[in-house]
Amino acid sequence: MRARQFIPALLLALLAAGCGGKAEAPADAAPEAGVENRGGDTANWWDSLPRAEWSLYEKIVQDQDWFEVYRIADGVYAIYEPGQFEEVISFLIEGSEKALLFDTGLGIGDMRRVVEQLTTLDVVVLNSHTHYDHIGGNHQFEFIYGRDTAYTRGRMRGSSTGDVAEFISDGWIWKELPDGFVATEYRSQPFLISEIVDEGSVIDVGGRRLEVLVTPGHAPDSICLIDRANRLLFTGDTFYLAPLYTHIPGSSFDDYVASAARLAGLAGDIDSAMTSHNVPVVDGSYMTALGKAFADIVAGSATDYVVTDGNREYQFDGFSVIVREEDVK
Ligand SMILES: [Zn+2]
Repeated sequence: MRARQFIPALLLALLAAGCGGKAEAPADAAPEAGVENRGGDTANWWDSLPRAEWSLYEKIVQDQDWFEVYRIADGVYAIYEPGQFEEVISFLIEGSEKALLFDTGLGIGDMRRVVEQLTTLDVVVLNSHTHYDHIGGNHQFEFIYGRDTAYTRGRMRGSSTGDVAEFISDGWIWKELPDGFVATEYRSQPFLISEIVDEGSVIDVGGRRLEVLVTPGHAPDSICLIDRANRLLFTGDTFYLAPLYTHIPGSSFDDYVASAARLAGLAGDIDSAMTSHNVPVVDGSYMTALGKAFADIVAGSATDYVVTDGNREYQFDGFSVIVREEDVK
């Protein structure tokens, strides 16, 4: 999950509750006012769509209006869901023998159908982390790689409809929901993990080796995936061009500091970073900026921040980092 800078703290709390299925969500704190105003100075968040960056890539024909699919690199497709506020992006990465689906989106459209229209290869799934907007289609796939963490095991059980109802309510979605989608039944479906992956695990899809980097911070089970031969890094929600979360339930600022430093150390090994929200590809040099940002926050030399409800949002070039005040005092 991710949010734009104008999203209010109350809504952030609810977002986190939805992602983590946390019971401490203030059930009576309906965030309608926040949702109505999520456009900040504009009427609606979607008024800024389409994002110009997508026009750089070849759009691939498939038959669901809910998705947009683009070829963003050789054998790599970005499966984008611009109709919902998260603007989540899943990635299909093809080898010569099979294809790896890095995240399965919101579970609103039919992810399996779109994937089957892109490749005839067997498809295996790996999640960047198990927030609701990255696991929605997991239940449609037979083979899922996953982390062996307590958090992951909790997310495997699925969510209730109440946990995620907010995310398909007015203000969150501008596109028509797909035929057959039943809003009252929307939930994260349970799924099973077929094979455990951990730090250094390599998934060889045939002529393409995808290596797992354990990068907790945004979520306890966050990973990145690196394709060293092709100099590509798939960051999940550890990096994207929007506010990075260190402050939501399940996040860890200290873990994120270490993960950011680690990714900065990989900047020389990659040309591009594939990010899971808003825009699919950013320059690899952002990993250097990410590491410096967290190091500067820790050192106290990052001074450009605003405080909202006990959180500091530090501004950097192209992204920001939201930190609980107690983590930096
Ligand atoms: Zn997330």
